[in-house]
Amino acid sequence: MASIVCLTFDFDALSVWLAYEKVTPAMLQRGEYGARVGVPRVLRLLEAHGLKATFFVPGHTVESFPEETASILEADHEVAHHSYAHVDPSTQKPEEERADMERALQVLDGIGVQPHGFRSPSADLSEVTLALVEELGFVYDSSLMTDDYRPFHPRIGDQVSRGQPLERGRESRLWELPLSFELDDWVHFQFNFDPYRKGGATPSDVLEIWQGEFDWMNENADDGILTVTMHPQVIGRGHRIAMLERFIEHCAEAGAGFERMGDVARKLPAS
Ligand SMILES: [Zn+2]
Repeated sequence: MASIVCLTFDFDALSVWLAYEKVTPAMLQRGEYGARVGVPRVLRLLEAHGLKATFFVPGHTVESFPEETASILEADHEVAHHSYAHVDPSTQKPEEERADMERALQVLDGIGVQPHGFRSPSADLSEVTLALVEELGFVYDSSLMTDDYRPFHPRIGDQVSRGQPLERGRESRLWELPLSFELDDWVHFQFNFDPYRKGGATPSDVLEIWQGEFDWMNENADDGILTVTMHPQVIGRGHRIAMLERFIEHCAEAGAGFERMGDVARKLPAS
C-alpha cells in the first residue's frame, strides 16, 4: 500500500479565541478570517487537486458560520467532532465535558452529520475524555502523539505518578490516528501578543519539516499514515496556501494517496 496523507483542517473560527482568558474584538476577527478567507481558499485548492480532506468543526463554528460549513459538506469532505466551545477538556469537570460533547453532537446532527471521528480542542485530554469518546460511538480519535505513522488503540485508565511507574490501563476500541505539533500549522505560524506566541515561521522552513516527515515515512514505514493538522485561519494566508500546494504536489509525485480520516479508520480492522 502506498503512503497515505490525511490533510486535516480544524475550522475553529472564533471558538479558539474565546477559549483565552482575555478576549478582544480584534482577536475574534482573526478567527473570522478563517471562515471568510481561509475556508474558501482551502476548498479551492483541494478541488483543484481533486482531494478529499477532514474538517474538525466545533459546534460553535457550525452555528456561527453555517454557509461555510455547508460548503465543506457540499464538496464531500468529512466533517468531524471538535467539541462545541473549544474548551480544553483537561480544564473541564466530567459533567461539563459530557454536556459540551453532546451539544456538539446535536449541532452536527442538525446538519445531517453523524461524526466518525473526534479531535480534542487544544490537543489535550481529561481523565475521562477517551472513555467518553468511546462510549459515544466514535470510530477514531485524533488527538494524541504516542505514535507517528501508525494507528493504534489508545489506553484508558493508565495509572502513573512520580512515585509509581506506569501501570497500563485497557486498550480502547477506538483507533487513534496520531497527530504531532511538528505537523501543525498553528505551532509554526501563529503569532500572538497576549498570550505571547512567536509564530511567523518562514514557509520554506515548515515545508522542509513536513516534506522530511513524509519522505522518511514513505521510505521507512510500511503503510504509513501522515496526519497534517491545519487551521483555515492560519494556512489560508497566501504564502502558506502556496506552501500547502507545494507539499501536496511533493507527496503526490511520490505516489501518496490522500484520504479522509473516516475512510482510513473504517478500513482498519474492527475490534
Ligand atoms: Zn481547534
